[in-house]
Amino acid sequence: MKSIIRCCFPARLCKLTFKHRFVSNVEQDGQALAVTQQGRNAYFVELKKEQSKGSQQSVTVWYSGIPREAKNAPWDGGFSWKDDGNGQPFIATSCQGLGASVWWPCKDHAYDEPDSQAISVTVPTTLTNVSNGRLRGVRDHGDGTHTFDWFVANPINNYGVNVNIAPYTHFADTFQGEKGLLTLDFYVLPQNLEKAKVQFQQAKLTIRAFEHWFGPYPFYEDGYKLVEVPYLGMEHQSSVTYGNRYMNGYLGRDLSGTGWGLKWDFIIIHESGHEWFANNITYRDIADMWVHESFTNYSEGLYTEFHFGKEAGAEYIRGTRAGIENRQPIVGIYGVNSKGSGDMYPKGGNMLHTIRQIVDDDEKWRSILRGLNRDFYHQTVYGSQIEAYIIRQSGKIWKRFLNSTCAIPKSRFWSIR
Ligand SMILES: [Zn+2]
Repeated sequence: MKSIIRCCFPARLCKLTFKHRFVSNVEQDGQALAVTQQGRNAYFVELKKEQSKGSQQSVTVWYSGIPREAKNAPWDGGFSWKDDGNGQPFIATSCQGLGASVWWPCKDHAYDEPDSQAISVTVPTTLTNVSNGRLRGVRDHGDGTHTFDWFVANPINNYGVNVNIAPYTHFADTFQGEKGLLTLDFYVLPQNLEKAKVQFQQAKLTIRAFEHWFGPYPFYEDGYKLVEVPYLGMEHQSSVTYGNRYMNGYLGRDLSGTGWGLKWDFIIIHESGHEWFANNITYRDIADMWVHESFTNYSEGLYTEFHFGKEAGAEYIRGTRAGIENRQPIVGIYGVNSKGSGDMYPKGGNMLHTIRQIVDDDEKWRSILRGLNRDFYHQTVYGSQIEAYIIRQSGKIWKRFLNSTCAIPKSRFWSIR
């Protein structure tokens, strides 16, 4: 396989990470570049040309290998090689936590994102590949294969890049949103088409609710997609993956125990919420994964409130408190790819719900949520920046409060900065 990487940085030494695979050679302008492998996964590439800041250069990387198979997608990811039930391949990638270098060579860190990304995948003509962004075209090779060329026009976190392959069928819709007409594209297995046409109507309800709370959908240029996959689902940017079996709840379960969680499809709502918190505002370090998950957990309550009323939303959020364990802080350890505890979901969501009560001004609180997505638009952030923003904008929240909710009081795990 060949990967073209655009370098927009002045360094002469470019570090690539590629786990369990093999980088054979790297070229710039047709000239081979020196590659040094360090350890098992890291490759250092020595660039010959001066890289002036702001210029765009191309580096071509040739690589090969047998992709790691996902053990428990999407959490312990890689490639899922499944069957669609009719003997056809049903293939998907997922890689948060492991890092995208589990299946393609990249600068495998969250703090930096490419301005845009092209993804080309060749499959047999009986199959369709769906990746992020918009489909620029399909090239038929006349040998029983064709190549799907996708292009993402916005910055993208590397774990959000994905490949999904199946004998997909496609249907489409549009949504009149805050930034104009948003295209909605849905890719599902043919046998699930009728169920999907009903269940995926929730996509519009979701985007309407979240545009109200969080501001415009952050990727109009790339459109919005729901793509059926053989695992539960994941927040892949502009290509939200779905495997919740066309049921409401979380595989039919209400995580709040209140009944409200059965009014909507958990994966459509939760994973789409990540378009704002994870894909628009992305952690620089996975220690701050709460920025993704606390807000998105909270978004479930806001969706409930938007469609079923304020008390319904509050009831849902309070119901999720049953899932709080209070064993470890929700902030992980910085610099070593360590995330915090699972409390980042229900405890983080309840922390935000509590802050709203302290702010005691619903429109002001909504303006803070929208302000976060406006002022940190397409940025990677530390959790401390989000905290500082809430403290500054609310005028009522103080750091000690955030410390006590993110960590365990009087614990050696008191870790939020
Ligand atoms: Zn999530």
